[in-house]
Amino acid sequence: MTPAAPFWKNKPLDAMTRAEWESLCDGCGRCCLHKLRDEDTDRVAFTEVACRLLDTQSCRCRDYRNRRQHVPDCVKLTPKRVAAIDWLPPTCAYRLVAEGRDLHWWHPLVSGDADTVHRAGVSVQGRAVPEREAGALEDHVVRWPGRFPRDATRPHPEARPEGSAPCPIP
Ligand code: SF4
Ligand code: SF4
Repeated sequence: MTPAAPFWKNKPLDAMTRAEWESLCDGCGRCCLHKLRDEDTDRVAFTEVACRLLDTQSCRCRDYRNRRQHVPDCVKLTPKRVAAIDWLPPTCAYRLVAEGRDLHWWHPLVSGDADTVHRAGVSVQGRAVPEREAGALEDHVVRWPGRFPRDATRPHPEARPEGSAPCPIP
């Protein structure tokens, strides 16, 4: 029997349950890097500087539930905002699904392993600069958050067929 397609392939973002929506985040932390918007051109530049609440090792928000008490301008993603925001990284699962594309092998929902997003070089682990150490954001403009890592779109042996057991590779 052919296994049913996973939810992100057969549901639009606005039809997902809360649990499905939350699980779609790959934990990369890229959206938690500061951005700079040029007032004249309206173009966005990524920086390598992490929001003060981001744990730069785990790439997770240190107080997700109460984050807006600490960082009032933290943007809560919604299906409408995903369509409107121009700074979601190209690897972002919400952006991929909104654009009708599939998740890649390193997404935890595909690999069954939360660490594959780090092993694939997609997350900010090891390259984000903590906000308190950074100084001027203009000194930290980088391009990598707006790009796919070289091998991240290729098929990978860590990928598992739909419906199979979670990836056993540690
Ligand atoms: S860029 Fe997208 S997938 Fe990555 S942490 Fe942010 S919301 Fe989650
Ligand atoms: S408050 Fe948390 S979720 Fe919001 S940008 Fe900062 S680290 Fe990311």
